[in-house]
Amino acid sequence: MIIVPAYDLVVLPGIHLYFKKAYYRELAQKEPEIGDNIVFILLKQHKERREITEEDIFPVGVTGIVDEIDGEDNIGIRTISRITLNQVDVVENRVQFVERADIEDISEQEIDKHFKDVRNAILKFSNQFQWGIIARQYILNWKSIFEMISSLSTQLNITSEEKYKILEEDMISQRVAMIEKALYEMIEVTKINGEAEKALTESHQMVYREEALKRQIEFLQKQLDDMHPESVSDIRKFEQKIQSSGMNAIAKKEAEKVLNRMKQEGQNGHEYGILYDYLDFTTSLSWEKAPFARINLKRAEKILDEEHYGLKKPKQRIIQQIAVMALNKKQSGSILLFVGAPGTGKTSIGQSIAKALQRPYVRVSLGGVKDEAEIRGHRRTYVGAMPGRIMEGIKRSGASNPVMVLDEVDKLGKDYSGDPSSALLEVLDPEQNSTFTDHYMNVPYDLSDVLFICTANSTDTIPEPLLNRMEVIAFQGYTASEKLQIAKKHLLPKAMHSMGIIPGNLKVSDVALRKIISDYTMESGVRGLKKRMDTLCRNAAVKLVKGEKETITVGIKQLKEMLDQKPIRHDNALKEGIPGIVTGLAWTQAGGDILFLETMLTKGKGNIMITGQLGDVMKESAQVAVSLVKSMYPDKADIFAQNDLHIHVPAGAVPKDGPSAGVTLTTALASLVTGKAVSPKVAMTGEVSLRGGVMPIGGLTEKLMAAVRAGITTVFIPRDNVEDLEDVAEEVKRKLEIIPVTMVTEVLQETGIQ
Ligand code: ADP
Repeated sequence: MIIVPAYDLVVLPGIHLYFKKAYYRELAQKEPEIGDNIVFILLKQHKERREITEEDIFPVGVTGIVDEIDGEDNIGIRTISRITLNQVDVVENRVQFVERADIEDISEQEIDKHFKDVRNAILKFSNQFQWGIIARQYILNWKSIFEMISSLSTQLNITSEEKYKILEEDMISQRVAMIEKALYEMIEVTKINGEAEKALTESHQMVYREEALKRQIEFLQKQLDDMHPESVSDIRKFEQKIQSSGMNAIAKKEAEKVLNRMKQEGQNGHEYGILYDYLDFTTSLSWEKAPFARINLKRAEKILDEEHYGLKKPKQRIIQQIAVMALNKKQSGSILLFVGAPGTGKTSIGQSIAKALQRPYVRVSLGGVKDEAEIRGHRRTYVGAMPGRIMEGIKRSGASNPVMVLDEVDKLGKDYSGDPSSALLEVLDPEQNSTFTDHYMNVPYDLSDVLFICTANSTDTIPEPLLNRMEVIAFQGYTASEKLQIAKKHLLPKAMHSMGIIPGNLKVSDVALRKIISDYTMESGVRGLKKRMDTLCRNAAVKLVKGEKETITVGIKQLKEMLDQKPIRHDNALKEGIPGIVTGLAWTQAGGDILFLETMLTKGKGNIMITGQLGDVMKESAQVAVSLVKSMYPDKADIFAQNDLHIHVPAGAVPKDGPSAGVTLTTALASLVTGKAVSPKVAMTGEVSLRGGVMPIGGLTEKLMAAVRAGITTVFIPRDNVEDLEDVAEEVKRKLEIIPVTMVTEVLQETGIQ
């Protein structure tokens, strides 16, 4: 007896089965022979032959006999009868069983009828079965319903348990019913699968169709676009621009998202414009990194010198910066902050730097910026959202590595809607600016190749963290002779050129230029001077066009007429000294100036009156001066007690503040109480302490220049400011006697009060 284990199959008596020879050989441990007896056992679960125990075997099996061996690889087995197994040893091929009788409660004809019904049903759907075309012939070869279900064992949708139950059933009628049920179920499932598959392919077809249609539309659109390039649709325009812009992956994704929304929105949708603006902005930015251009330092130096006269120190520092950039092969370096009075060339030298580096130049004005969003943009959810000034500047420059001049960083404001200086910090910080994210754009942009240059009139109002990040380069005011050179070499020729006056047609004498500088302007820079040159050229142009003269020569006499204005009234040094009045030196945003400190006593009870729009700091230094003078002149105590003191600084409409008038105030009061006048050619500056010490001040260069302008000859300065004299032009130092002092008493002695 050769035991053949079967799992998940329907094996019934009276059918014909085929086997692989090799498999049989393995089971039987011998060559197959006709007449070999076989026992099929049915397994509860799939197991290797060696591991099968009696628990794994269902109680009913089938006997069979080998009745066919072909020359190829197959053997045929005919099953005979059902058996109840008693003892099974699979490995040893030993088995004990008893035959199990069928209860034949149904006629052969009836069974045959069932068989044919099911077979017809199967035939109807045969093309849907997995076995395909050959199925029909195969189906027609089945001889009984039992053979049929055996062949279809693996196609049935019932469990292995249910398959076994068919064999175990003794009543033939029941068995046939079970078989029929299993087969019809199989047919139904196949039918449903077929329908589902059909539905699926139909829906697939829809998708394919849609794709194909879209592609066709695209193709047609392209043909139309090619015919009329001027009306290429927005969508297609942006599609191309997004691809060609060189955007980073994040920006591209966002742009594509917006483009999709734009497609959905349609040209008449109310968001279309907003989406259009966004894409227009982001795709016009320059996204690709510009290659590092070799820097020619000699040429850079030449350009700076050609376009700006003087400015020795700033130029030196700029050249250093350019050299460092060349060595590092970097497009940016430390952030330079140019500080100085208006018109000293801060902005325009930025332009020359760009030219020297052969990079685009862009100027971003920050004056009056109060809202963080002006730097970093508004979120797109805002109505009328816009990109910030930085990104807007980048767009204007048309490059990713422009020289960007951030003008007036000292005029940044601050309000409830955030601090613009902290946004600016992020822009300037080399650690962060490679992923600067403008709120409007909502995607990072690399600012690390931008060369930032900031300008300011003073460093006082620049927040500390911002100032720390920058390297301050001072732009001192110009002396009169520097201004003369600037006017001659730059401002006048430029003005003439822009008005179309050829060089020979207008001549302005040096004396006239000097006069313009001294009497028609009052500034550290050259802005006013530039305006005067423009006016002069405009008037000259009228004369030339009218044909009054071929060549116009401008001397002192013609100035009033050519400049359309009267000379500016200057505060010049007083003619004679008056006790109680002393000249001070002040620093203003426009440069330096002199101011007079006037003091007066009137009958009263020791009250102090201060006028002339003085700020709190200046008022306090007035109090200090009063106390100091009282302590220095104890014998004059009565004067203070019996009089009211009035302190006034003329030009009452101009607010004044700062501690640097301390020495001047003290001297004025000392002069008042002693009745000794100070020479009107003497001026002074310095903060004073309650003990009479003189402390350093700022803006020395500008103050000394103002002193020279006003005709002062002697100036007292704090000893601690002596170092700053290095920056003062020789021309100024030559014209002044500069006396450094440590104590205010030295001033009093030198001026003859004490
Ligand atoms: P700032 O930015 O310091 O206020 P600008 O750069 O606007 O000053 O300068 C004002 C004008 O004066 C510009 O036309 C500039 O070309 C000119 N200018 C300033 N300094 C010089 C200089 N040293 N040489 C030639 N032109 C100068």
